[in-house]
Amino acid sequence: MADDQSLHDRFLRKNQSLSRAYEISRKDKVKDKTVSGERVPVLAVCYRCKLEKLTLKYHITETGRTEGAVSVSNEYVPLCVDCAPKPKKNAAELSKKQISSLLRGAMKGRL
Ligand SMILES: [Zn+2]
Repeated sequence: MADDQSLHDRFLRKNQSLSRAYEISRKDKVKDKTVSGERVPVLAVCYRCKLEKLTLKYHITETGRTEGAVSVSNEYVPLCVDCAPKPKKNAAELSKKQISSLLRGAMKGRL
């Protein structure tokens, strides 16, 4: 009978540590997801058109003028697909071209 009890205890302990390990690995997975920055559309009021739509959070920089002073606000706001800034693929390509033309210029001794 005593053996049965200790066996049962051992089983319980094993079960507990297993569920703890599971809990930890689950937390790790959630953390990984957050770190990788997976963006899931959320139903929210769009910052621009004020309509409740599926939005993603965007980091925007707005420049405003108040009392002669220029204030720049950095905000993280929800924007719907229509108002979201377009992917900066072209801009990136352009700047890459600009960089390479700058490099070419530098190699020719124009800088
Ligand atoms: Zn919008």
